[in-house]
Amino acid sequence: MSGPAMLDIPLDGPGRTFGAMRLPRSHDESAHGQIAIPVVVVNGSPGPTVLAPAGVHGDEYEGQVVLSNLARDIEPSSLRGRLIIVPAANLPAATVGRRTSPIDGGNLARAFPGCGEGTLTEQIADGITRLLLPVADYVLDLHSGGRRLEYMPCAWTRLPADAGLRARTLEALIAFGAPDAGVVIKPQAIGTFVAAAQGAGKVAISSELGGGGTVTPYSLSVARDGVTRFLAFAGLTGPKPLAKPARLLAVEPHHFVRSPGRGLFEPATSLGEIVSAGDIAGRLHDIERPDRAPETIRFEAPGIVMCRRVPTRTETGDVVAHLGHPSAREAFV
Ligand SMILES: [Zn+2]
Repeated sequence: MSGPAMLDIPLDGPGRTFGAMRLPRSHDESAHGQIAIPVVVVNGSPGPTVLAPAGVHGDEYEGQVVLSNLARDIEPSSLRGRLIIVPAANLPAATVGRRTSPIDGGNLARAFPGCGEGTLTEQIADGITRLLLPVADYVLDLHSGGRRLEYMPCAWTRLPADAGLRARTLEALIAFGAPDAGVVIKPQAIGTFVAAAQGAGKVAISSELGGGGTVTPYSLSVARDGVTRFLAFAGLTGPKPLAKPARLLAVEPHHFVRSPGRGLFEPATSLGEIVSAGDIAGRLHDIERPDRAPETIRFEAPGIVMCRRVPTRTETGDVVAHLGHPSAREAFV
């Protein structure tokens, strides 16, 4: 496997090193230009490696803020191992606050493991997979709801098929320490970094930290605490016991509520609410036909409202809410 992405720093330099993953980009304003995606490596004493990207989706800000702070603040001598931070993995998307790349429209979270001869977004995925993933033992890929969705801040993962890796991944999910943890059953998304990392045998989890196009002191505290606890779980820092174990929520395809058409969605529930199958999720208004009653949209299954769509205006197929179903840990092992 080869591609144009290269690192301009060594991964084994002592202490803290700020550098970049560089990719060529020739365009109108720069014939032999480059994109330089920041990479920060913090080496302590010998130990395992944690790879922590954020900004895979450019409009998901919690991870970008928390990892940027950590990159400057963490004391190398406090680490038993190595921390590699990529605070804005899809830099072109992050610099304009968009989910996807303004250059090629690419969704980096659907592009892994990537392609060195592909689009710029595919080349970024290839660079991360080829240059950073092989040295990692643990992966924490920080996501959030972005501009279009809002989540109850939670840890988030799919589970790999291998029984040993599956058990360890579940431990990592709980160790993140968020009040809730979503476990995706029958994942619909292909090409995520967590899927690629788990496929390479790494303990890899993600998160859904909030969103709504902003950050809050609470969502940032869940993110900061989660990263700190994940480093402890991986053995880079001392143990951090949990006050309260996470509520595990299974997330299946029938938990997603989609808009049946174009209109204004009037929600009937709030984040964190417990609902039954058949309960009203909301009503869809056709603003051109005020004479018509709005269409009632119902939940297909019981569960807890984990996520809601932020913009009121919706198109056919938009997810307006999704649930998670509280489940015992034994249901996943
Ligand atoms: Zn995301």
